[in-house]
Amino acid sequence: MNRSALFLAVAGLLAASVIGFRSSADSASGLQPLKFRPLPLGSVKPNGWLKDQLRIQADGLSGHLDEFWPDIKDSGWIGGKAEGWERAPYWLDGVVPLAYLLDDPALKAKVQRYMDFALTHQAEDGWLGPDKSAKGKYQARDPWPVFVMLKALTQYQEATSDQRVVPAITRYLKCLHSQISQRPLFDWNRMRWQDGVLTVFWLYERTGESWLLDLARKMKEQGYDWQAHFRNLPHKEKVLKWEHESHVVNNAMAIKTAAICFRLSGSPADAEMGWRAIETLDKYHGQVSGIFSGDENFAGRMPSQGTETCAVVEYLYSLETLIQAIDDPAFGDRLEQIAFNALPAPFKPDMWARQYVQQANQPVAKVSKEKIYTTNGEKANVFGLETNYGCCTANMHQGWPKFVSHLWMQTADGGIAAVAYAPSQVSTTVKQVPVSIQLVTDYPFSNRLKILVQTPKPVSFPLYLRIPAWAESGSLSVKGPGKGVKRDLRQSRANTARFETINREWQGTTEVLLTLEMPVRTERRYNNAVALWRGPLAFSLKIGEDWKKIAGEEPHADWEVLPTTPWNYGLETDEERLSKSVTVETKAVARNPFDPTQAPVVIKVKGRRIPQWDLEKNAAAAPPASPVTSTEPLETLTLIPYGAAKLRITEFPVLKAQ
Ligand SMILES: [Zn+2]
Repeated sequence: MNRSALFLAVAGLLAASVIGFRSSADSASGLQPLKFRPLPLGSVKPNGWLKDQLRIQADGLSGHLDEFWPDIKDSGWIGGKAEGWERAPYWLDGVVPLAYLLDDPALKAKVQRYMDFALTHQAEDGWLGPDKSAKGKYQARDPWPVFVMLKALTQYQEATSDQRVVPAITRYLKCLHSQISQRPLFDWNRMRWQDGVLTVFWLYERTGESWLLDLARKMKEQGYDWQAHFRNLPHKEKVLKWEHESHVVNNAMAIKTAAICFRLSGSPADAEMGWRAIETLDKYHGQVSGIFSGDENFAGRMPSQGTETCAVVEYLYSLETLIQAIDDPAFGDRLEQIAFNALPAPFKPDMWARQYVQQANQPVAKVSKEKIYTTNGEKANVFGLETNYGCCTANMHQGWPKFVSHLWMQTADGGIAAVAYAPSQVSTTVKQVPVSIQLVTDYPFSNRLKILVQTPKPVSFPLYLRIPAWAESGSLSVKGPGKGVKRDLRQSRANTARFETINREWQGTTEVLLTLEMPVRTERRYNNAVALWRGPLAFSLKIGEDWKKIAGEEPHADWEVLPTTPWNYGLETDEERLSKSVTVETKAVARNPFDPTQAPVVIKVKGRRIPQWDLEKNAAAAPPASPVTSTEPLETLTLIPYGAAKLRITEFPVLKAQ
């Protein structure tokens, strides 16, 4: 049974016996009800290292692009002469939640200016934003950038209750409804229609106007058929030309299509495509951090091919959307995998520079006329302001803030679910009783999660805690008023994520302690190379880094990163008795756990250099097929979290046992 079929079978049992969710479409609403409903922006706030990460982000490019980067500073979206297409909406889609999650007055004032301009310059017929880019490069009245702006506006409305937003979105969508009857979706907006439908659903759930469902169905009909695309992916090899269908960002965004189609149809076949898409992408183009390759089109599983930063943040948002409609905890596992590995990886630790592509094996980041890429240019993997292309500079901001917003969700049966774990706090109400939940943890660097549930008066509801597939053992205890609970979490069915339920009457303060054991484990990958994991974190060789400024002005300069220590190692990992061949060292989490000098978890492992494994076109050649032999001396190697290692080897050849 494949992953999807297994999930559907298990989901059926759960729906019947445990969770009791509604399983058929709600005929009164015309839309399949959400299994998990995200809380309004600001209800889930970051704490600990996660809050620090958002602060670092706000102090870097995210909080300052509007001061100097023409495409935000002088955007067509505020009447300026620079780009008036996707860049300001992209920035706002991330910086609106960043501002409200940090409750930062200066940042809130910055985004307010853009929101006010859009809301006070709506066209007579409802069109939002510039009619066309001031540069004239893009077609007039392209719905694509508006789809992004709508996502920023809905988050802004949830945080502020600004009463102008719902009428403005209503007028825009009426205008779109009339436009697409004469001029069907085209180009980017035809590939990314599902992100437009998200706002159609958002509005429908607030106004219940049936023409919105007609609009959603029309957009689906006119849009690219992603369900058919993932059912039989036509691109099983590295793609050698630029095209929309195999474009890495289009595909990362399209993973959410299963949720959109399922909400419209209620058909299990639509829901099943969520996992099917992920499995298919993994099989042909999967990378160790949970993403898939693309430069800018699919590039296979070779660990030097790399993935665009836009695709990383869009994949995260797709997972955050999928789990709302299809409550498979495995989406939460993947969400953490990408958020804790691929998301921090492409950023300079101060978040004043980003890469266009990150590579799983990335021993050097330098300008290279010789390229392993198909479309990407010579600066694809250097760290810079807009090296290679500026889309990622505009779009990268949504990664962390939206991850925060989707850590906890309301469940259809009136409970609360932990979709993903990171230090955070939730303020919500259950049955009109205020409930606050605080997660005190250094997870994913620590395996201990202390959850404090507080209510001023007794209230009953289920709390769903995700138990990741990798957690083969752990424990759960509940201490507080009422009956204590102690559970051993040994997995009855290995390698399957699930939700552990605590259904009780909560009163006063209750402490839930969840421990997820994290022994180091291995995964075999490309050419039988090995990757090391601890919990949701992949580990990479720590390579000495020499940051060399190549252009621009600090703090937003462009940088090459050159290695100062060797990288071409094979590992001596005794996979049968892994705990004896590796050691784990942990220390307190510093301000930035994704700074290579502050890594809170270090794995020590033995290895030897593999002299024949070298650079090719300024990228690591494919790891030689394992097992490999080497007569070089045995050395102790230091591995740090993938996201902290700005130069890294993650997929290692395995030395032949001697
Ligand atoms: Zn990009």
